[in-house]
Amino acid sequence: MNGKILPALLACTGLLLAGTWALAADRESDRLPPVESQQVAPHIWYLHAAGGNMTALIGKDGILLVDSEFEPFVPEIIAKLKALGGGVPKFVVNTHYHQDHTGGNGAMHRAGATIIASANVRARLEQVQRAPLGGSVPAPVPADKLPTITFRDALTLYFDGETVRIVHVPPAHTDGDSVLFFEQANVLAAGDLFFNGMYPIIDVDTGGSIGGMIAAANWMLARIDGKTVVIPGHGPIADKAALERYRDMMVAVRDKVKAMVGKGMTLAEIQAAHPTAKFDAKWAGRISAERFVAEIYYSLRPHFPGT
Ligand SMILES: [Zn+2]
Repeated sequence: MNGKILPALLACTGLLLAGTWALAADRESDRLPPVESQQVAPHIWYLHAAGGNMTALIGKDGILLVDSEFEPFVPEIIAKLKALGGGVPKFVVNTHYHQDHTGGNGAMHRAGATIIASANVRARLEQVQRAPLGGSVPAPVPADKLPTITFRDALTLYFDGETVRIVHVPPAHTDGDSVLFFEQANVLAAGDLFFNGMYPIIDVDTGGSIGGMIAAANWMLARIDGKTVVIPGHGPIADKAALERYRDMMVAVRDKVKAMVGKGMTLAEIQAAHPTAKFDAKWAGRISAERFVAEIYYSLRPHFPGT
């Protein structure tokens, strides 16, 4: 990885998260967005505040919550879960280590939840972070934020009448990504393997790559049907067709950037050539076209030694 250009790439994401943290810091002034919820199946709700989307399974065995937002939102999340007929989650499953998905782990743990994640999530949180998303995590997180149940490949929970299959996929958005299939309800919590309606963040510094993102999307598509409710890591509730459109966008842009990298073009030259031009109106915004191209460039470049 080019040590000079990568920080610039990461700084872009830093701006994204800096904005989110600014929101978190304003919580006392009541300017934070409320925790929103939408029922997507008889026992399953989509929840969203400022960070990554959450998915809650609520039933007689208790609550299983997918991802834990930023810590300041935890009291409101628990209040929302109580209003929906539950309480403190029994289990919190992290889809990956990023702070907008794990920031609430400590508060959830102290409230009584058990944190579950792939072993790579725990390993990333234990390390001194290189802050790939912009400097929010300068040191290993406190012990009570760490997952206490980890798995390498997959874990199945039989909970609230659901068979919840948690699968750790090969590196895609990070090297610790998991997705959750709620089999009876036909709901997929895709984590940050899916940014619905926007270019994705790809954490190339921790094993993420455009090839991994496309492979993960294809893998998920092969395991769902037209009735599956797909909850992305970011963006609105989706379905199989939306995930297909996202996959197709990634493939098309990857192919264009790959051809340019193959010609020996530099990152700046590729960005100036606007390989995303056809897609920007629909997908650019939260993540800029320039950043997405850089993510793809750094995903592909190791395959072209000498450039
Ligand atoms: Zn993420």
